[in-house]
Amino acid sequence: MKKAKARSDRIDWLHALPMLLVHLSLPLAFWTGAGWNEAIVCVALYVVRMFFLTAGYHRYFAHRAYKLGRPMQFLMAVGGTTAAQKGVLWWAAHHRDHHLYSDTERDIHSPTKGFWWSHMVWFLCGKHKETKFDRIRDFAVYPELRWLNRWWIVPPALLGVVCWLFGGWSMLLVGFLLSTVLLWHGTFTINSLSHVWGSRRFDTQTDDSRNNPVLALITLGEGWHNNHHHVQTSARQGFYWWEIDVSYYAIKVLSWLRLAKDVMTPTAKQLARHRLKKGTHDFGKEAARRLRNARKAAGRYYDEKKQDLVQAVDSARRAAEEMVQPAAERSGSDAS
Ligand SMILES: [Zn+2]
Ligand SMILES: [Zn+2]
Repeated sequence: MKKAKARSDRIDWLHALPMLLVHLSLPLAFWTGAGWNEAIVCVALYVVRMFFLTAGYHRYFAHRAYKLGRPMQFLMAVGGTTAAQKGVLWWAAHHRDHHLYSDTERDIHSPTKGFWWSHMVWFLCGKHKETKFDRIRDFAVYPELRWLNRWWIVPPALLGVVCWLFGGWSMLLVGFLLSTVLLWHGTFTINSLSHVWGSRRFDTQTDDSRNNPVLALITLGEGWHNNHHHVQTSARQGFYWWEIDVSYYAIKVLSWLRLAKDVMTPTAKQLARHRLKKGTHDFGKEAARRLRNARKAAGRYYDEKKQDLVQAVDSARRAAEEMVQPAAERSGSDAS
């Protein structure tokens, strides 16, 4: 039993092979060459698919931060699925799990288990392959979403074929595959770096989430991760005008077009709650735990050394007494 569990923690190489091959195929672009068309498609596919992931997979399906009609809901799911990050129900259910157990032993991708684990190993191992339907019952009732979740490979495969038909191998490699790889790692930074690198505005108490403007730029707003952990149901993650949150602006446009409604934003009360005072340095739960452990280890080291010193002084004193005693006895016998 224990052995089986340990095995499921390891990378399932057959499962990881397609992803590995996509990475390895990228240098072929040096042979095919690429121009402006490929570069523009690469950037466009990155931005558009990042929007579907952040606004759709994350803020809509995982957190229900706003409402969509059924056709728009399906469109959002299809758009997110083209990013080749597995099915919408699989993704959203695992993300809900992350919020339930953030940075504890049960967190599926906490960086406390190492950078690579949180970045990508967690989903390449056997352990988290299946969709946790009990976490996503609300959306699992839609048969079209269950179908898409099962056949998630279809939309990215079709997109790849379309790129190849219109622009040949260079378009497939740079326009489609390179943007997909960048999209993978851009998204994965939220699970890895966003719990390690950045500042904390809110004492989220149970996790190490951080706000990071660089990560927010490359993920269209997801880098305001400490804000997000603080108010998880908010469609807006950059809480102030200077916190750029492109996905939120796009959701806002959808609401003006009446395609999205009930767009949730943080209340004044939520913005004031658990706020870290100016000048307070909050290094997060993991850093505090390490500091506590370092203090304990330093205390143990001090006690051990103190004990050694006491013993050394004691034995030196005994040795001195042993040296003095015979001398005293000798001088006593001389006097008599
Ligand atoms: Zn998180
Ligand atoms: Zn979330």
